[in-house]
Amino acid sequence: MARKITILTVQRTERVAPGMVRVHLGGTGFETFEPSVFTDAYVKLHFGSEAEPVTRTYTVRSVDLEQREIAIDFVVHGDEGVAGAWAESVAAGETVRLSGPGGAYRPDPTADWHLLAGDESALPAIAAAVASMSADAVGQVFVEVAGAQAEVPIVAPAGVSVTWVHRGAAAGEVADDEAGRHAPLVAAVRGAPWLAGEPHVFIHGEAQAVMHGLRPYIRKERGVPAARASISGYWRRGRTEEGFRTWKRDLAAAES
Ligand SMILES: Cc1cc2nc3c(=O)[nH]c(=O)nc-3n(C[C@H](O)[C@H](O)[C@H](O)COP(=O)(O)OP(=O)(O)OC[C@H]3O[C@@H](n4cnc5c(N)ncnc54)[C@H](O)[C@@H]3O)c2cc1C
Repeated sequence: MARKITILTVQRTERVAPGMVRVHLGGTGFETFEPSVFTDAYVKLHFGSEAEPVTRTYTVRSVDLEQREIAIDFVVHGDEGVAGAWAESVAAGETVRLSGPGGAYRPDPTADWHLLAGDESALPAIAAAVASMSADAVGQVFVEVAGAQAEVPIVAPAGVSVTWVHRGAAAGEVADDEAGRHAPLVAAVRGAPWLAGEPHVFIHGEAQAVMHGLRPYIRKERGVPAARASISGYWRRGRTEEGFRTWKRDLAAAES
């Protein structure tokens, strides 16, 4: 079945951090956009020609039903690639085709505590999740960013701590021995106290850091069952999204 395509119009853009641009999308196409109940709601953006689009995946950071628009936060990472470069230069009035939203996670209000971690690419989903939590929620949030200037404030309940982990440079600019399994996010999460009770876990971001650095810790060492842990890579250093999809397929095949 053909997927439903929504065409949205860029309303305005704003730089929320040196390496992140928020694009507000609305227009008449918003009437056919169906918001998701999940806080990790994501859309597929289709760039280029209709016959051979280049597809990129992005979180719906927020939906504003009054303004009739959605916001998407794009990590801008130089000239390489399609979506980041598009967000950096796009102007109000331009349109973009998208499908979705999909999604699968929202913080379980019955969880004893929440653990959320990721890099800039997961910051929109983490921020949306934390914003949806009740005032008495308990948890720990870890976000790896380039430095203090790259922090985008997260509004969190009093019982949810937010720790910013500084890697010292943009994600694509650090050496291999400071990324992946060696990403400072991995050490920060592994070194944090493990709270009492059943957690609900959400960890996404650079694929090596997440899948090799943190997933074994959460699933095997801490014994969190798959149903209580949303863990996946959002992108992969040195690969385009197409190359990353191949990496994911290979990983899944090797594990099965
Ligand atoms: C469910 C889901 C939700 C996502 N939500 C968001 C979101 O809200 N915001 C967001 O920014 N990203 C998000 N991502 C990640 C995003 O889809 C990828 O980063 C994507 O590869 C960017 O496309 P591009 O065209 O800019 O670069 P590509 O053409 O895919 O890649 C070109 C080069 O840029 C590098 N690169 C890609 N992403 C990054 C990055 N984040 N930092 C540094 N270098 C990078 C690649 O390794 C490659 O070398 C999400 C991914 C998934 C699966």
